[in-house]
Amino acid sequence: MRLVIFGPQGAGKGTQGALIAEKYGIPSISTGEIFRWAIKGKTALGLKVLEYVDAGRLVPDELTVEVVTNRLTADDCIDGFLLDGFPRNVGQARSLDALLADQNAALDAALVVEVPEDVSLRRILGRRACSDCGRNYHLDAPPQNDWTCDACGGDVVERTDDHEEETVRNRLKLYHEQTEPLKKYYADRDLLREINGEGSPDEVFSRIVTSI
Ligand code: ADP
Ligand code: ZN
Repeated sequence: MRLVIFGPQGAGKGTQGALIAEKYGIPSISTGEIFRWAIKGKTALGLKVLEYVDAGRLVPDELTVEVVTNRLTADDCIDGFLLDGFPRNVGQARSLDALLADQNAALDAALVVEVPEDVSLRRILGRRACSDCGRNYHLDAPPQNDWTCDACGGDVVERTDDHEEETVRNRLKLYHEQTEPLKKYYADRDLLREINGEGSPDEVFSRIVTSI
């Protein structure tokens, strides 16, 4: 199963990505998460992407495609993968098609999860994540003990790029300008599955499973 998932910030891609990966036994690969880990670890990649991620701008395609190419050629991706946050524009989608064609493979579906903008903003401004394992939480759905991760005991914090409303709005604007055209790109290839992202994570997940 080879899948991509996209949608506006706060649509719940990360949460759904983890559920999908578990159900289908495939790795969930988030470019945003790869970049955040690199920044945290102060690696060479992290230093290159820091200014873009913190400002809510897109990391240049060439660098992003290189990172994805390296990740998709790892052994655990042989039987499939879910890409979360990539592609983010039509150029990246073409690069992905070319990369898969080289491996005699192709996507099975492109999921777009959508929510109205007010829901999206409310979800983002309240979201929190474990700084060690990445697990997602929300002000309305906190961990059991005082912002300590239920899974690993790490600190549950706000992402730096979620803190400023301006940065969040910038990412939403970029989504509409650059990422939304992927709907047509994938619809033309009969791969698009449009998912309503409102409701509980379980409700959204069952819509996804039905659509796949
Ligand atoms: P969100 O969808 O909430 O913006 P992500 O974790 O997907 O969160 O991405 C965080 C940041 O990482 C983005 O704002 C951007 O700077 C960078 N990024 C992630 N994926 C890509 C990509 N495919 N192309 C370029 N930049 C990316
Ligand atoms: Zn954790």
